[in-house]
Amino acid sequence: MELLNENLQKLRGQVAIITGASRGIGRAIALELASYGANVVVNYARSSAEADSLVTEITAASGQAVALQADVSKIEQVEALFNAVIDKFKRIDILVNNAGITRDTLLLRMKPEDWQAVIDLNLTGVFLCTRAASKVMLKQRSGRIINIASVAGQMGNPGQANYSAAKAGVIGFTKTVAKELASRGITVNAVAPGFIVTDMTSNLSNTEEVLKYIPLGRYGQPEEIAGMVRFLAADPAAAYITGQVFNVDGGMVMA
Ligand code: NAP
Repeated sequence: MELLNENLQKLRGQVAIITGASRGIGRAIALELASYGANVVVNYARSSAEADSLVTEITAASGQAVALQADVSKIEQVEALFNAVIDKFKRIDILVNNAGITRDTLLLRMKPEDWQAVIDLNLTGVFLCTRAASKVMLKQRSGRIINIASVAGQMGNPGQANYSAAKAGVIGFTKTVAKELASRGITVNAVAPGFIVTDMTSNLSNTEEVLKYIPLGRYGQPEEIAGMVRFLAADPAAAYITGQVFNVDGGMVMA
């Protein structure tokens, strides 16, 4: 993580919760927001060692971070997470709904539990965390909510009926909640990554085939998603943007 830069302290003192920040894209977002001065809450489900080492990395670079375990598909754990954040920080300025899983298989082989697990985390988890954060943001009359969607929710992807449905749901949810919260100074946007190099994509077998669909001819890096999230969190740069979906996908989807 780069040291805090005088000119880059746009998020100083702001409290940012990033779900699923122990690894991959969430980790990069936590580092990016912390490097801009935010107090970051590193949520994770199972990877406590990775979450702790991220907190150590951020604090060693003079940033602020705390790791909090919660399965964000479970309402009781979401409530406990947000209560713990309010107890500690008294406010929530930025929520990044990033936690996500895949359970890929073709439709006829897809078990109801494969469907439900993906919907529970990738869609219901976004609802639960957004509802919890918005209660606080409504009182503050300010806040930024950024949902990590996917190109799969826009263009579909064989083997991902569950995941595509959840991510398309996140896009519809983003637009509706943006309309509901706009009058209170809260913006809600989505970022739709293409193929990003993380554990989630590490077992892709048809790499050459995938690259044919990416005009820029390469996979993306987690930091390239984090940069867009940081822009959407920043004031005044993104203050007039809400209900939008930003593709960071090497040109896969061109609207
Ligand atoms: P990843 O490397 O597999 O990391 C997933 C993260 O989610 C981990 O930190 C994991 O924490 C956390 N998580 C899993 N289950 C959780 C739960 N029940 N509650 C809280 N956290 C949980 O995935 P990624 O590639 O970074 O993906 C991050 C987001 O980007 C996801 O929403 C994904 O759908 C989206 N996305 C990714 C790509 C891509 O190509 N990688 C493309 C489009 C969209 P633990 O380690 O503690 O389990």
